[in-house]
Amino acid sequence: MPALFPRLYQAPDKPALRFGDQVIDYGRLAGAAHALALEIADAGRVAVWATPSPHTCVGVLAALLAAVPAVPVNPRIGEEELAHILADSTPTRVLAAPGDELPPALDALPRTDVVLEPGADPSPDGTTAAPDENGPALIVYTSGTTGPPKGVVVPRRAIASTLDDLADVWRWTGDDVLVHALPLFHVHGLVLGVLGPLRRGGTLRRLGRFSPEAVAAALEEGGTMVFGVPTMYHRLAEALEAGGEGGGEDGGRLAAALRGARLLVSGSAALPLHDHERITAATGQRVVERYGMTETLMITSVRADGERRAGTVGVPLPSVDVRLVDDEGRRIEGGDGETVGEVQVRGPNLFTEYLHRPDATAQAFAGGWFRTGDMATRDADGFYRIVGRRATDLIKSGGYRIGAGEIENCLLGHPGVAEAAVVGEPDPDLGERIVAWVVPAGGRPPTEQELIDHVARRLTPHKRPRAVRFTGALPRNDMGKVMKRELGRG
Ligand code: ATP
Ligand code: MG
Repeated sequence: MPALFPRLYQAPDKPALRFGDQVIDYGRLAGAAHALALEIADAGRVAVWATPSPHTCVGVLAALLAAVPAVPVNPRIGEEELAHILADSTPTRVLAAPGDELPPALDALPRTDVVLEPGADPSPDGTTAAPDENGPALIVYTSGTTGPPKGVVVPRRAIASTLDDLADVWRWTGDDVLVHALPLFHVHGLVLGVLGPLRRGGTLRRLGRFSPEAVAAALEEGGTMVFGVPTMYHRLAEALEAGGEGGGEDGGRLAAALRGARLLVSGSAALPLHDHERITAATGQRVVERYGMTETLMITSVRADGERRAGTVGVPLPSVDVRLVDDEGRRIEGGDGETVGEVQVRGPNLFTEYLHRPDATAQAFAGGWFRTGDMATRDADGFYRIVGRRATDLIKSGGYRIGAGEIENCLLGHPGVAEAAVVGEPDPDLGERIVAWVVPAGGRPPTEQELIDHVARRLTPHKRPRAVRFTGALPRNDMGKVMKRELGRG
């Protein structure tokens, strides 16, 4: 297998990273990363203080060139979680930008400042002799949506495989300029968002902060692709709507900018249909959804050159085997679009193990297949539709198995609902009863009964919530995912 970044050396004058006004070309990036790689070559593992900066990109790239596993650390991490991550991943060195203030637990490690000047002659031969492609490249902690984050060991081959699969299905090339506002310590923002452009030889255009105006400006300046989580597309949809039918100046500008983009990609959680529809209505763009996990990198995607079916996560990536399995462990054949099974995955994209958790690793596999814990259906054309997580989104009520997502999508279609999260609560008669948490939209707030009737009329009556709880905000993590375990039982 070729090196992870064969295009690092091909066009030294081409912009690799753009953070605000700071542009770093490939020559400078390669020189800086090679110098750092030589400095850290003896480290066992490095922690990377993953601020949204070019230093994070150079730090991770250097670790990959040196074949030293990197542990990206959320710069807003709390003390307790940091202590856990450090004890778990045992880095021997920390990489940070000069001047970055580190919390005491990280400050106690030997530190290497990441500088952006080329300190070494980049050599395409790499810094170490051909690293083991199955060896650990990154240790990434999961998003912590369903419990404490788990340390996932991601091998080099998984990164290469997922990025090349995505290049195929998204027609992703070195000409693409990726507009990026995601955190740099999870798979989405780091593997896809940083390593993706560098493997293709393209450009990463980092936004200081996500806003619809910043996205519009970056697209006007030559951005071709946008990667985002659903909360970002929700904000784009709101801004487009506020702009009116191309009338409002900002809405019109944003619509024009988005219309000009080559590809808008959403992932990390389900993009509500209502937001899909609003974006398509205002811009003509159909957002491409992809589905993946820290443990598997990417699994499925809607193809850029195929049918863009909203509400589905597309088809398996070329290198990935996907199967649906019922509760008895039997493979579900064919595609009726209705039978729900667990998504199980096999392929070069898989992780090696949960760090220090051999039991959890063993439990996560069934005969060589990784059990995602996500439930889905498959239709006759092979398109997958994620119903939700087995643990939190599949509600067993009155003998039915009901997916929370369908009810959430239905509630979001009501003009009085800005955000919705549906959960099952224990119920003596039904087993579980459906409860909806709703953030009301501006204007007249809807009543509980109105929303129950809204769902009962549109879906079947047994899918109606038995109670609606209004709240000012849903508990979300830094990927914008709703942490359902924190929706207290009222
Ligand atoms: P934790 O494992 O710590 O509870 P997490 O599962 O959210 O957190 P990640 O590995 O970042 O951590 O996220 C993977 C999960 O995100 C998948 O298992 C799936 O439930 C969800 N997901 C990702 N993409 C999509 C998508 N397009 N549609 C629906 N769900 C998605
Ligand atoms: Mg998970």
